[in-house]
Amino acid sequence: VHSFLDDDVSPDVVAADPMATLEANPHRHRRLPPPPQLFGASRKNSTGRDLSVEADREALRKPKQKLSESGTSVAVDVAVTTALKAHKEWDARGGAERGAILRAMADALQANHDPLCALIAREAGRSLQDGIDEVREAIDFCRYYAAEAERLLAGPIALPSPAGETDHLELHGRGVFVCISPWNFPLAIFTGQLAAALAAGNAVIAKPAEQTPRIAEAAVNLFYEAGLPRDVLQLVQGDGKVGGELVGDPRIAGVAFTGSTEVARIINRTLAAKDGPIVPLIAETGGLNGMFIDTTALKEQVVDDVIASAFQSAGQRCSSLRVLFLPNDTADGILETLLGAMDTLVIGDPADPFTDIGPIIDAEAKANLDKHIAKMRTEAKVLKQLDVSKLGGNFFGPAVIELKSLDQIDKEVFGPILHVVRYDPSDIANVGAKLAAKGYGLTLGVHSRLESFADDVKKAVPAGNVYVNRTIVGAVVGVQPFGGSGLSGTGPKAGGPFYLPRFAEERAISVNI
Ligand code: GLU
Repeated sequence: VHSFLDDDVSPDVVAADPMATLEANPHRHRRLPPPPQLFGASRKNSTGRDLSVEADREALRKPKQKLSESGTSVAVDVAVTTALKAHKEWDARGGAERGAILRAMADALQANHDPLCALIAREAGRSLQDGIDEVREAIDFCRYYAAEAERLLAGPIALPSPAGETDHLELHGRGVFVCISPWNFPLAIFTGQLAAALAAGNAVIAKPAEQTPRIAEAAVNLFYEAGLPRDVLQLVQGDGKVGGELVGDPRIAGVAFTGSTEVARIINRTLAAKDGPIVPLIAETGGLNGMFIDTTALKEQVVDDVIASAFQSAGQRCSSLRVLFLPNDTADGILETLLGAMDTLVIGDPADPFTDIGPIIDAEAKANLDKHIAKMRTEAKVLKQLDVSKLGGNFFGPAVIELKSLDQIDKEVFGPILHVVRYDPSDIANVGAKLAAKGYGLTLGVHSRLESFADDVKKAVPAGNVYVNRTIVGAVVGVQPFGGSGLSGTGPKAGGPFYLPRFAEERAISVNI
């Protein structure tokens, strides 16, 4: 397998260049830009810190061509038409053959590990460690869904049959699946959605976040290299309007979406409003994730896990810790150690191997965080915010805010801001019920040496992923199937045994001879 960075294949980026698509050459080749420099020449600011990352990210995001309204519709139409034609043949290949292509994709990802990490750092601002984890996860998704396709879709599943009859169940792709993915895991979630939809026998239209088009393009190139027929996977770049057009197309058969609760609702409404088939939505959205500490917990372990859970990836994970519940009796000691430990965090160029935390994804996201902190400065108590003013750009100092009560937060704030609430662990049923009443249900943490306390927390707060005495981020494919309920999503869980069937339709065949 050769590197996608100097390869000659390139996906059909239809929305970015709709007129070119109309030239009716779905197999045209386009070169990717030269690889971003990992440790190349850079500009320094007055502190000597490398700021080239900001400039690189801006350059990577510049659209090749401005999307026009008609261009958008044309691009979507071409993509859906092409994918529709390709679906039947792809579905007929069966799970084993599709699984083999996904395994080849896993190998291609592995072979391109380093340049992918560089691209993730440059385009998404994710740290090298996050990039390494993400490439690993993308590989895991491919291998896991390959195994699932071989288990469930390689042939008919025999059913108990009365004498003289043969009954079996077949799983097939539903048709054209639209996969809309976020910028916070621009490779892993993008690849995971595609791998599942493809493994189940669907043709796929991928609409990645507009902030991370090049990573998506690189991944699609690798799918093609791995042997995926080009028409089976169409890449449509663009913003929410493009996503809206795709979701509103009457010919699509399913939507997989990871992103905000708000956008999931818009997709749901669009699907419900149109005529034609009833189209399923698989949505993985946000969380107002809590972690409950009791007085038996080990302080140093709590601090370590809280820092990773709240601040890793600049808090830009659906799974990140948003509200830390500290026991009245030990809160002061834990907070003192926590606030002190924050000083060890290295914030800066994500491509620097010593960096813990990179920048916020874009200026708009950073402005939202600034607004939240400003509000909290008057309404609550900002205990600490790291000073990153020298870094400029979209860097944001990780912060800890002590709330007067849980009533002061209702929605997910997507960044490195940790809210702290003091509570009485013997009142866990009531406090947990208050958190549950916010409506989210994604990740939940407990730190305690009492099993009974962990059980009480689990009972009080329904959550898709419960973690006891560890971090609440970094779910591993097949080990911690990931996803929540309520405002956090529809399920099924990505990387779990019930994911693939939701991308498929079932047919029961009864034959009497
Ligand atoms: N699966 C990731 C984790 O466990 C989070 C995914 C997301 O942010 O959407 O940290």
